Amino acid sequence: MHLISCRYKGADRIGIAKGDGAGLISIRDGWPQTMLALIDAGPELWSVLALDPARAIDERVPLSAVELFAPIPRPRKNIMCLGWNYAEHVRESSGTRAAEIPEDPVVFTKNTTSVNGPYCDIPWNPELTTQLDWEVELAVIIGIGGRRIPVANALRHVFGYTVINDVSARDLQFRHKQYFLGKSLDGTCPMGPVIVTADEIQDPQALELRTWVNGEIKQSSSTRHQVFEVARVISILSLGMPLEPGDIISTGTPGGVGFVRNPPEFLKHGDLVECEVHGIGKLRNHVR
Ligand code: ZN
Repeated sequence: MHLISCRYKGADRIGIAKGDGAGLISIRDGWPQTMLALIDAGPELWSVLALDPARAIDERVPLSAVELFAPIPRPRKNIMCLGWNYAEHVRESSGTRAAEIPEDPVVFTKNTTSVNGPYCDIPWNPELTTQLDWEVELAVIIGIGGRRIPVANALRHVFGYTVINDVSARDLQFRHKQYFLGKSLDGTCPMGPVIVTADEIQDPQALELRTWVNGEIKQSSSTRHQVFEVARVISILSLGMPLEPGDIISTGTPGGVGFVRNPPEFLKHGDLVECEVHGIGKLRNHVR
């Protein structure tokens, strides 16, 4: 299933996208009304929905008739993010080909309030930052919680996958030493356009991902180049704290970000940044 959160005729709904249409989940009969409620409902309800969506859907509408939100517009917890999870990004960031690949993942978070819609504007505020940068990432949505999750079982805990642009204010990120402020500005976490449920992603380590700025390709890689693959990340994060339904893990960005380019490149007013994970979808956000 390709699941969406949206507004239709003034009401916030969730639905199942197919082609250029969407089936909206009924507001009657006790069906979940938010993505988090759907995730909380558990695997039994997910399979009912996957096998017999007509039972839950009461309106079919063109996708162009809805306003798409991030699939989880307001997560309960900060988005957990991996830093330096692609070898080429480690090398470009350190400025040397011989840079060491980390033995343990770099983990930081983005504030829940940074979440932005898949086609919404990214706010432009040059008094706050002049170094806004792009980072296309595969994001994992946890469906079944757990602690000390073994690598071999980890993918069973995944509800689905989406795309995140981990927009980063590099000046703030480095000035404040810790990443949180530079990664948490309003609107700097475009997400979506859909969650593709885990049953439809055969191998999360075989997904192509790309970024374009004003139509020019900036990042192009595959999740097969991740240093810590999705299952290992889930296992490591759950060692000393619970992962819970609805948690979001953004799995890091490949090479090709702006601040390491020569000369450095940053987003500016009027730019269009597009981030795609093949098979999931493409974010399209203007900076203004
Ligand atoms: Zn990132």
